[in-house]
Amino acid sequence: MKNAIIFLGTGGDSIVVGKQVRASGGIVLRFGDNQFHIDPGPGAVVRAKQYDVNPRETTAILVSHNHLNHAAGLNSLISAMTYSGIDKRGVLACDEETLHGSVNENPSVSKYHKGLVERFIALKPGMKIGINDVNIIATNAKHTDTSIGFKFYTENFVVSYVSDTDYCKELVEDHQDADVIIINCKYPLGLTQKGHLNSEDVVKFLEKAKPKLAILTHFGIKMLDADPIYEAREIQKKISNTQVIAAKDGLVVNPVSYASSLKQRKLDAF
Ligand SMILES: [Zn+2]
Repeated sequence: MKNAIIFLGTGGDSIVVGKQVRASGGIVLRFGDNQFHIDPGPGAVVRAKQYDVNPRETTAILVSHNHLNHAAGLNSLISAMTYSGIDKRGVLACDEETLHGSVNENPSVSKYHKGLVERFIALKPGMKIGINDVNIIATNAKHTDTSIGFKFYTENFVVSYVSDTDYCKELVEDHQDADVIIINCKYPLGLTQKGHLNSEDVVKFLEKAKPKLAILTHFGIKMLDADPIYEAREIQKKISNTQVIAAKDGLVVNPVSYASSLKQRKLDAF
């Protein structure tokens, strides 16, 4: 498939990821000839193999923040992408802490592996980068001091990833014109934790953001107990004009089916 969103994992807390109840390899976006690997957590290269993703074909690796569930597979993925530097290539785009560390934390990328990519860049919310024919904007995420989400503009559609975040008005503003939004919904209705979304937040968010498709992922153990499919259905009942689904490991979605922006843009041109 030329365009695909592939879930190499849907696990979202240390219990789920630690036992690999759900995998944690990240999300791969294939847009034409580009392959973007978002948040390569523990087992990223293992899950890539399992779900027929060739890490050598990675165009860019994107990391939303410097937490283990999102970045533990980063160095192994860079190694696989570059044959450990024999073929220096690819882009690493991530938040500040993943690249440079902070007062309290080491960066997830090692100095050695940082040297193996063709280009690395630390992104802040609002910053834009162009990679081949895809434009990427870093979005706001209230989770760590430097964490971000990503929004991908292709010629035909817009796909967004909110990452771990609190619900906030910036979230709506940043993701409003996306056709497909991938949402880290760690908790079911009634359970909250600072820096994370639950099903209730997702309803509030979708009422305003109005994508064609919302895909829930990054499930904590309480969410799995509640059943993400049930939660997605309950969210769906409250939201019209957006299809709401719960991802499972290995899920492949073709974003072209949800492309409204192409038609819109073409209409605008006339
Ligand atoms: Zn996190």
